[in-house]
Amino acid sequence: MPEKTTLKQPPIEAKSPYELRVNLGKNIPETDVRTALATGDMGFLHSFTTGATVDGPGVRVVAWTAGCMWRCLYCHNPDTWTMTNGIPVTIARATEQLSKYRHGLKAMSGGLTISGGEPLMQHRFVLKLFTAAKAMGIHTALDTNGYYGDRLTDDDLERIDLVMLDMKTWDPERHRNLTGMDVEPTLNFARRLAARRRKVWARYVLVPGLTDDPEDIAKTASFAAELGNVERVDVLPFHQMGKYKWKQLGLEYKLETVEPPDTDTVERTLAAFRNVGLTTF
Ligand code: SF4
Repeated sequence: MPEKTTLKQPPIEAKSPYELRVNLGKNIPETDVRTALATGDMGFLHSFTTGATVDGPGVRVVAWTAGCMWRCLYCHNPDTWTMTNGIPVTIARATEQLSKYRHGLKAMSGGLTISGGEPLMQHRFVLKLFTAAKAMGIHTALDTNGYYGDRLTDDDLERIDLVMLDMKTWDPERHRNLTGMDVEPTLNFARRLAARRRKVWARYVLVPGLTDDPEDIAKTASFAAELGNVERVDVLPFHQMGKYKWKQLGLEYKLETVEPPDTDTVERTLAAFRNVGLTTF
């Protein structure tokens, strides 16, 4: 599928996902968007970034997809909620971009992480890019909220070396308030990954007043420990780096006055995961 747009495109590589990117695919006809989703021949990407050391093992290239059906109150990249805010990129172009990094990634024991947005909004494109990565001998990681995990077949899961599963909060009502969506599909995906013995890193964004309830954290930790396939847990302290995006996009940002968690809260949260035998970072 040709890449159709009359908008001036920024480079596909960004310094960081905190660059605000909007409307870059808005001239793509709706029928082409549907075809892209059905075939995976084209995807919508916020950007590629390089050099990440927190998004999987080794030094990573991260492909940030556009499009997310959740509305997390603390989202750092709300410009990635809308798929057509992203750059329309053919799978050929994405593969070519990835191949530029292949030698460096292997030398630094790194790989490709696909994050977002929610990558599984474009699961066919994501799978094609993972397939291309595997063909180059590149390690693959998927950073997902898991809601659309059932879009992946068991064979698809074999193409993903690591799933980084975002666990937002345990309590169903809190989860709905925080994300706008139900928690159960994420938990079901976690159970399925465990049953398939797929490697998982859990990610937990720690937000004062929203996800710092000790009982909630303890339940999340017990669940993660019982799965048996969670290799590590990343506790990610909330920060305000994405705040400006909410303002620029004219969105109501409810966490304006929320401070990052203090050291004691971070330590207590790490301890809750360690206490059930999990490894934390
Ligand atoms: S799932 Fe991720 S991208 Fe989607 S709204 Fe939540 S934090 Fe933002």
